[in-house]
Amino acid sequence: MQRIKALIADVPDFPKPGIIFKDITPILLDPQAAAAVTEALLAIARARQATKIAGIESRGFIFGAPLAQRLGAGFVPLRKPGKLPRKSRRATFAKEYGEDSIEMHDDACGPGDRVLVVDDLLATGGTAEAAGRLVREAGAEVAGFLFVVELKFLDGRQKLTGAPVDALIAY
Ligand code: AMP
Repeated sequence: MQRIKALIADVPDFPKPGIIFKDITPILLDPQAAAAVTEALLAIARARQATKIAGIESRGFIFGAPLAQRLGAGFVPLRKPGKLPRKSRRATFAKEYGEDSIEMHDDACGPGDRVLVVDDLLATGGTAEAAGRLVREAGAEVAGFLFVVELKFLDGRQKLTGAPVDALIAY
């Protein structure tokens, strides 16, 4: 994981002043590193006995979809509002300025499913908390929350209750 961590680039003042953006795209350019990340996520997904992977748009798709295929589990895209074509449910969460929402198809998961929520990065936890709400409102169980990167100083995991939280790399 040290080699993976070294690939993650700090981009100061993106998308706005004061934010240090963690750019994971160098991992994607390195097929060995990308495969190592998928295998590390897979070990955790198995330990959590996940039956489905829910990826948060859009970098949660990049890591979540190959993970779901390796696990032999279905993949659920959690999308920005207005993108999903069929009957969907929505969860709204607070952002630094104003609010945002994510949506999930109504039939994507339900009772009997153990859904692992996956994203590239845990910051304040608002996005992942909303993802967990969507899964639970659909009647499924949240098997856990899984991230490639966690920004520990923002304490996002305190928002993620009722299921284990894992991250491969912490800052
Ligand atoms: P949050 O809801 O605050 O936990 O933010 C998580 C979402 O915002 C994830 O989808 C991340 O990809 C993105 N994000 C937040 N902060 C950063 C950051 N410093 N670098 C890269 N992505 C970030």
